Amino acid sequence: MLDEGRVRAETPGCGSDSGTVFLDSAGSSLPSQVVLDTVIGHLRREAEVGGYRAANERLEDLAAVKTDIGTLINADPSCIALSDSATRAWADFFYSVPLGPGDRILISGSDYASNGIAALQRARATGARVEQIPTDPNGQLDLDAMADMVDERVKLVSVLHVPSNGGLVNPAAEATRIAHSVGALVLLDACQSAGQIALDTRELDVDAMSVTGRKWLRGPRGTGFLYVRPELATTLEPQRLDLHSAQWTSADSYQLAADASRFEFWECDVAGRLGLGAAVRYLLDLGPEDVYAAVAARAEYLRKTLPEIPGVTVRDLGVRHSGIVSFTVDGVAAFDVRDRLAARDITVTVSQASSTLLDMTARGLDAVVRASPHCFVSFDELDRFVAALAEL
Ligand SMILES: *Cc1c(COP(=O)(O)O)cnc(C)c1O
Repeated sequence: MLDEGRVRAETPGCGSDSGTVFLDSAGSSLPSQVVLDTVIGHLRREAEVGGYRAANERLEDLAAVKTDIGTLINADPSCIALSDSATRAWADFFYSVPLGPGDRILISGSDYASNGIAALQRARATGARVEQIPTDPNGQLDLDAMADMVDERVKLVSVLHVPSNGGLVNPAAEATRIAHSVGALVLLDACQSAGQIALDTRELDVDAMSVTGRKWLRGPRGTGFLYVRPELATTLEPQRLDLHSAQWTSADSYQLAADASRFEFWECDVAGRLGLGAAVRYLLDLGPEDVYAAVAARAEYLRKTLPEIPGVTVRDLGVRHSGIVSFTVDGVAAFDVRDRLAARDITVTVSQASSTLLDMTARGLDAVVRASPHCFVSFDELDRFVAALAEL
């Protein structure tokens, strides 16, 4: 079981009686003390000796960032490319997959706006088509419909693991099997799952996976990573290269890096990377399964309690649930709910239709309020949130 007292004591943002309730780990979570110290410590060191020497002093720790990420997602460190956001990681892979006229790109019904936009742009440039995998009555990827629609023209499938606008978990491994049956590549958006549910790249069997640092992993902003399957990390050529992703070997030749670092550029926020590493190590140290169970228990508590408030409708779909709880309040706009809770020092966010256009349009929703409690949120705080919501 997770030691809630320890986690709270080690999270500077949740002072014991501060009165604040933080329910936005799906947006940008509260880092632990060790993450904060790591980032600030490195910035101080850069100010003392310059960025190059400061980085050279931390080469082992920088290498350990990928090792620890690999431990968390069951992947070899050579399959990890560090990035400055999940979107960049996702796009770095997505834009590198060769496509031609008549090829098909499949996206998920709850896909993220940036992914949908990129798919349309890529289709326009290559003559490929973008199609949506149908959604079943539970709001999840409809696996039967997907099996019926795939053929060998499908080259690339975007599977959205945990949508940003509601609490479902898509059957990613099953969808991947269907995509692979016709030889398509699968890119998994695990932005909202990393740090709150178990991710095992060998079990999922995806070809690539994108993750952000600042959400459930509780890392710094401006961090993320891409996982690339070993065979692709050594064969797929990224759209853009620099002197780190490739080596300039002669006047008319270059050689790609022999692992997933071909998807990285040389320049980076070293303090942020060390902070991301500290966040992953902290999660490993707490025990990921205990953290995941604590998140799930908090979200389930809200899903059970919120419907008891007159006028509140929980909007989560799905069979298996995540730590994201989405809801609407009759007669009160989502942004007003957010602002009125903020006035009481309770942080929730609004997820707008523009972020998950296909799903929200299909459900006739323009916005939902999103509460996403991490393991450092106490049940007392959840009750304070529920009471405040009842008073609206
Ligand atoms: C937040 C989010 C992203 C984007 O992550 P960034 O790190 O901001 O690029 C992508 N997909 C989903 C599902 C998200 O929730």
